[in-house]
Formats: sequence, C-alpha cells, structure tokens
Amino acid sequence: MISNIHAGHGKQDSKSAGSSLLIKESIENRIVKDEVIRLLNAEKHTTYDTTVDYPSSQNDCLNKIVKLCNKHKTDLDISIHFNSAANDANGNGKTTGVECWVYDTNTKAKPYAERICKSISELGFTNRGVKYSKQFAVLKTNNPCLIIECCFVDDKDDVNLYDAKKMAKAIVEGILNKSVSNSDSSNETSTFIFKNGDYAGRKAIVTTNVLNVRYNRGTDYEVIGQVKKGQQVKLEWCQDKWISIQNFNGYKGLGYVHTDYLELI
Ligand SMILES: [Zn+2]
Repeated sequence: MISNIHAGHGKQDSKSAGSSLLIKESIENRIVKDEVIRLLNAEKHTTYDTTVDYPSSQNDCLNKIVKLCNKHKTDLDISIHFNSAANDANGNGKTTGVECWVYDTNTKAKPYAERICKSISELGFTNRGVKYSKQFAVLKTNNPCLIIECCFVDDKDDVNLYDAKKMAKAIVEGILNKSVSNSDSSNETSTFIFKNGDYAGRKAIVTTNVLNVRYNRGTDYEVIGQVKKGQQVKLEWCQDKWISIQNFNGYKGLGYVHTDYLELI
C-alpha cells in the first residue's frame, strides 16, 4: 500500500508545537512516526513523510501538510498525534486512551481507524473509538485520511504504559491487518554498537568529558543530571541511539543519554 505519514504540529522548538505535559507531543509523535515508516518500509510498502518541522504558525503547518499529502495518490494519509486534557497527572490507575478521527462514516479510512484503535487498545489503552469531523484540515486531503491520537500526554497511566516502539508496531499492525516483526536491521554499521533493545544488567563507560542525562530520549528534553568521563552507568533500554540508565529520576524513573558517548563494558 502507499501512505502519506506525518507527525502533527511543528517541532518542539517551532511555532506550533503540540501538547507538552508529562511527555511532549511534538517529540513523541516524531519518534512514533519514524518507527511507523520504518516498519511499513520493512514490509515493502511505499511511504511518504509529510511532516512539517518549522511552520510559521499552526495554520501554516496544516496547509503545508495537506499540500504535501496531495502530491501523492495514496491508499491512506496518517496523522500522528497525542491527546491532552485528561488532567490525570498523578494517575488514577486507568488510562484515558486512544482515539482515531476520520472525515465521515463513508471514508475508506474508517476500517483502518477501527483496526488501529483496536490494536492500540490491545496494548492496554482504553479504546475511545473512531470519531468523525469535517473540520480538521488534515482530514480533507484528496486521499482517505485519519488522525491517530495515540494516548494522553497528561495522564500518568497512559504515559507509564506508553512505549514508542510498541505504539508504532500496534499502528502498523492495525493498518496492515496482520502481525509485523519489529526486529531492527539498521544495526549493521560498524560504528553503531548499540542496537535497539534491552540492555538491562549491562553497563557502559562514559567516553566524553561531561555527558548530559535527559528526562527522556532526545535533546529537546531537559537535562536532569550529568555523568563524567570514565564513570560507569547501568543500562536499561536503547532506542534510536538513546539509552535509559539507572539512578536518575526522569521518565519512568530513569535517565536518558546518547549512545555515541558510551562504550559497552
Ligand atoms: Zn496534536
């Protein structure tokens, strides 16, 4: 199948970043978007990334996305968002969950939207179902199109359950209506020693003078600490060259550092 895929909103440091509470929409939706594209490409499908990183406003962002989407005739246009306004920063033991939006009940995007909601709900998120709107600009491209509101950035239960890789895999399985493998084939370069995956029980040594430890994966997240050259860190999980380490109190009770400055021991 052929798809346009974009992360909603501009980048976190642009004029139209999305919601920013326990986690930041404009960061997480880009991680999920990239992984959705990687998984679809691995299944030999054609994808076009129609994300707009630095729009001059939210309207400019939407106009540019629609224009980019209309350059390609696709089976589906996919807009990846995270929801907000759950107002559950402390967690009440229950996720607020996933929803998808389509234009109306006749669109060819509707069965995709239903399957994506179901697939994400199988990760444990509450299924808020498919909703309809004739207002949203990205639901008015020339192709069947849908918006995915993966989960809520201001619900601690959603954020605790959320994992970008699992979210992307669930989305792709909903799109394709079959199981896919998320094994990583991008680990074959000689300089990249950290593969995506579990490093629990392993340690690494810091190879740069001072390495910033961040709240979550990415330089857009705040620095919550530092480690120094020669220091050993206890590893947890690597994703796209960002690895979680113990003894810091960021997202999920861990710190996050870039693997370019670590050597596995
Ligand atoms: Zn959004």
